Amino acid sequence: MLEALNPQPQDKILQLIAMFREDARTDKIDLGVGVYKDATGLTPVMRAIKAAEKKLWETETTKTYTGLAGEPAYNAAMVQLILGAGFADRAASIATPGGTGAIRQALELIRMANPAAKVWLSAPTWPNHPSIVKFLGMPMAEYRYFDVASSGIDFAGLMADLAGVAAGDAVLLHGCCHNPTGANLTPAQWDEVIALLQAKKAVPFVDLAYQGFGDGLDADAEATRKVAAAFPEVLIAASCSKNFGIYRERTGVLIALTSPERKAVVQGNLNFLNRQNYSFPPDHGARLVTMILEDAALTADWKAELEETRLNMLTLRQQLADELRKATNSDRFDFVAHHRGMFSRLGLTEAQVVRLREEAGIYMVGDSRINIAGLNAQTVPVLARAIAAVL
Ligand code: PLP
Repeated sequence: MLEALNPQPQDKILQLIAMFREDARTDKIDLGVGVYKDATGLTPVMRAIKAAEKKLWETETTKTYTGLAGEPAYNAAMVQLILGAGFADRAASIATPGGTGAIRQALELIRMANPAAKVWLSAPTWPNHPSIVKFLGMPMAEYRYFDVASSGIDFAGLMADLAGVAAGDAVLLHGCCHNPTGANLTPAQWDEVIALLQAKKAVPFVDLAYQGFGDGLDADAEATRKVAAAFPEVLIAASCSKNFGIYRERTGVLIALTSPERKAVVQGNLNFLNRQNYSFPPDHGARLVTMILEDAALTADWKAELEETRLNMLTLRQQLADELRKATNSDRFDFVAHHRGMFSRLGLTEAQVVRLREEAGIYMVGDSRINIAGLNAQTVPVLARAIAAVL
């Protein structure tokens, strides 16, 4: 049976990680993989997570199964963190293995409810989006998003493409910190997209993987909250991997907003999906998140550390934009300071990306996406000079 399997194409980022590891140069710089790193190159365990883990070790008396939807306290805390007050009576939710698990379950829910629904993805988007949609055999379409010339949003293209959305189609929107481009809709643009999708009777599907990494915890959830208030049905797949720094604990949540009358049926279907795929969702990370969000002192410390992280990335953005101005004698890269989140797409050619790797030991994804957090005050000018050298 297994002879029938074909080799899978290698994941580009994992390939890049392997190449970086094998590079013997001591001054090499990794801007590829999408994890936060501090100035020393470490992806730290956050202080509040450490404190919660200690308390959990001391107080946990059982590791018996949780509920199919996860612990109700976790789901409630996540609904509150993402949406604020006022949505509990419309929100069915399940804990999931990371944001990826939430995306997968959301897509399966869409397919169960409406197999004809097309899933609309931004061009470009996180490569796992189209990969999972294709794997599930769902109809898929793209909408223009990124304008290569300005490294900003192609808003006219986006609106023209989304005009083709049919009633019941699901439109995947990055809630904040667009991956891979770093370019985000303005509040006014969000309003226009919402009005168009309302007119089309679309189902918005928000991927929120970086809440707190862009403009702040509440600011980063603002678009999601607007969408939640504007539509009768919304799917939200959120991840705690980045903002709680618990990547390997696999902690996410899928929220399905519906009417209070339909909530029990939707919840039953979400529970069913968890049961079919893995029975019970992982608990450790979810429990730590709940402990933090239910304790005022831990919440305050987590918020302070997350804010430090966010401001560090903003400082690096400004430094890189300034250094690129100096190195290239142009404002071509000013957009780096205006982008938000961990990533920016620099607009370099594939050949330039290869030259940066081969000549300067600087590793980035082939589409010239860089992880801003892979930099520090010392490597920012090195990167700027290396980019100027390959232009
Ligand atoms: N969505 C986007 C856009 C992402 O970039 C990521 C992670 O890189 C995720 C979702 C899911 O992350 P995880 O499954 O690690 O929680």
